[in-house]
Amino acid sequence: MTLAPRRLLSRLRDLRARAAAPLPELVRLVAAELVSEVCSVYVQRPGDILELAATEGLNPNAVGSTRLRVGEGIVGLCAASGGVMNLPDAQNHPAFAYRPETGEDPFASLIAVPVRRSGRTLGVLVVQNRLPRHFTEQEVDELETVAMLLAELLPASGASEGTSEGVGGAVPRVFAGTTLMTGIAIGPVVLHAVRRTGITLLADDPDAELARLHDAADRMQRGLDALIAGVAPAGKPADASATREVLEAYRLVAADAGWLRRVGDVIRTGLTAEAAVQRVAREMHDRMRRISDAYLRERLADMEDLANRLLTTLSGDEPRADVAPGSILLARRLGPAELLDGHARGIAGVAIEEASPSGHAAILARALDIPAVGATRGMLDTAEPGDLAVVDGDEGQLMLRPEADVRTAFTRALAARGERYARWATLIGRPAATADGTALKLMLNVGLSMELPQLDRTGADGIGLFRTEIAMLARGAIADVAEQAAIYARALDEARDRPVLFRTLDLGADKMLPGTVVEEENPAMGWRSLRVGLDRPALLRRQLRALLLAAGGRPLSVMFPMVATVAEFMVAKTLLLAEARRVRPSPERLSVGTMLEVPALLWQLPELLKEADFISIGSNDLMQFLFAADRGTPSLYDRYDLLSQPVLNLLDQLIAAARPTGVPISVCGEAASRPIEAMTLAALGITSLSMPASAILPVKAMLAEVDLVAFRPVLAAIRRGGMNAGSLRDPISSWAREHGLPV
Ligand code: PEP
Ligand code: MG
Repeated sequence: MTLAPRRLLSRLRDLRARAAAPLPELVRLVAAELVSEVCSVYVQRPGDILELAATEGLNPNAVGSTRLRVGEGIVGLCAASGGVMNLPDAQNHPAFAYRPETGEDPFASLIAVPVRRSGRTLGVLVVQNRLPRHFTEQEVDELETVAMLLAELLPASGASEGTSEGVGGAVPRVFAGTTLMTGIAIGPVVLHAVRRTGITLLADDPDAELARLHDAADRMQRGLDALIAGVAPAGKPADASATREVLEAYRLVAADAGWLRRVGDVIRTGLTAEAAVQRVAREMHDRMRRISDAYLRERLADMEDLANRLLTTLSGDEPRADVAPGSILLARRLGPAELLDGHARGIAGVAIEEASPSGHAAILARALDIPAVGATRGMLDTAEPGDLAVVDGDEGQLMLRPEADVRTAFTRALAARGERYARWATLIGRPAATADGTALKLMLNVGLSMELPQLDRTGADGIGLFRTEIAMLARGAIADVAEQAAIYARALDEARDRPVLFRTLDLGADKMLPGTVVEEENPAMGWRSLRVGLDRPALLRRQLRALLLAAGGRPLSVMFPMVATVAEFMVAKTLLLAEARRVRPSPERLSVGTMLEVPALLWQLPELLKEADFISIGSNDLMQFLFAADRGTPSLYDRYDLLSQPVLNLLDQLIAAARPTGVPISVCGEAASRPIEAMTLAALGITSLSMPASAILPVKAMLAEVDLVAFRPVLAAIRRGGMNAGSLRDPISSWAREHGLPV
């Protein structure tokens, strides 16, 4: 099967212009041009059924009667996976579903290409040959182009857009997902346009299309530069500069000539610039989908965002001009620039079908304070523009077309929340303390510079955990010494006289840089974090140097993650002290601490307490290793409790050992951000707690009402009475509720 791509495309163009019944003509044309015995089109019908709609080469009587379920047979598998199936010997493939009425017995090789539109499968294009053969990359390319054309023809032929329920309707629906950012938003829905409809597919003049592409790419790049510089169109300079790291990373992807070159190649085969951008975006999407690394997959959203932006620029439209203030943006995936545009236009909330709490969209939603939910699968199939929706970021759910009473309840909740925030706002300038007068330090956990303004917004006492690896993950690479120093200096500048505890790079496990492929059975317990730093001392030394340069003579606090032995701590500390001797000016005070995340450290406390200036408990990892329970496994999420005998006993012992030495102990894992845990930690004697910005004021408000003198004996009694209980949460919470505490 030799291909003359331009010829096939020009025939397809003719066909589109004249054919009244294009499907039978199309399969005939493709079979002839590809010198193949069979070309068929299966169309997706309501109920997730794929029906043979046209064929050249199979039994014509099978048209309209041969049906497969999505997921059934090779055709069904292609529709379900959205990927090309290229099989030299299809009949011996385990998924092959034999349909005698088609007469397909003699055909050995098969290629199935999904026909997709707006990310949904509309049907499958199939080509079969007698000879067992693997279709070449160029052939796959050609069939992909035919599939794009089919995507425009199929809706007219009655294909269902991959939904079994019909679109819209006034039925209320609830989509359970995950919290990306807490908060409630109510408003009319706008659908994030995954791609523009009705674009012209084929072009006569590739040179003119290439010129259009380059002009649009330049304009898009300039628009991004402006967005990143914070002058337009986001409007609010603080927010725009706050999103710098993520956008910088995004701009690097945009400026990557590789994908634009590939778009140019596709244009040269006869497609318009728009069609070529879509085509390349889809190829990248397919490639990325096969990558299991969460961070790399995030790049996918960036790429789709860029492709959409480029399409918008090509069409001369303003990005998201249709988004009204107060609306709820629903998207399959959402890249950073698109969310920033939405924010500039005043969106009230977002729901994203494919987004995780660690993704870029979630990071930005938190920085911009937009209630957001993710993993709300299926919502786009039923939502119509203008539908009323509630984003319930607290519970991680989206309600579409809610009943009147649900609407009222959420409107009330929103109002109550407003009042609560107003009350909390009065606490911002006041020192944190409990009702009995115990002073507390409530500190911020920070990952990106964009979060720094939260220091003043929440009135936090400093930064208790600066996760230095996050900025590197946002960039996709480890920044050089000068760039790192600039990031750290900014944190110290914005903290002014408040302390900042920098944690050295904690890469590995769930925080992998692109390109680092480490095959490990248990990455959380693998070659990660300080272990990498100790084995690659140059990397660690560069970071320590950057921290010292950033301090520029100011006090500096550095801690190391995942320390398992005092010996490891000593090697890291020695590296820091050696670097400190080289950098001038020296910090006014250099504090060297450790995170306590690996239980083994608990049996080295006397030695550790002699060497460490402070200890910060990373409760997320400590709990994971103490109970041998993966922190990323949802079904284990609440199986083991910090409020339990073993953990409280452990904390008691740690506090007792540290007290005479004067080494301060703090907690910086998620546990510190939950009011009941914060109250219990304070009762045990841990009064320095570090948490995400959203928790500072709620925890401060709650602790302000706790009388620790009254609570301590209650806690002791609860511990005595619950010797065999897996968790002490219920009695502790009951006491809090009985005392009217806002938990
Ligand atoms: C922890 O483990 O509790 C911690 C604060 O570190 P991270 O969540 O970044 O692993
Ligand atoms: Mg940790």
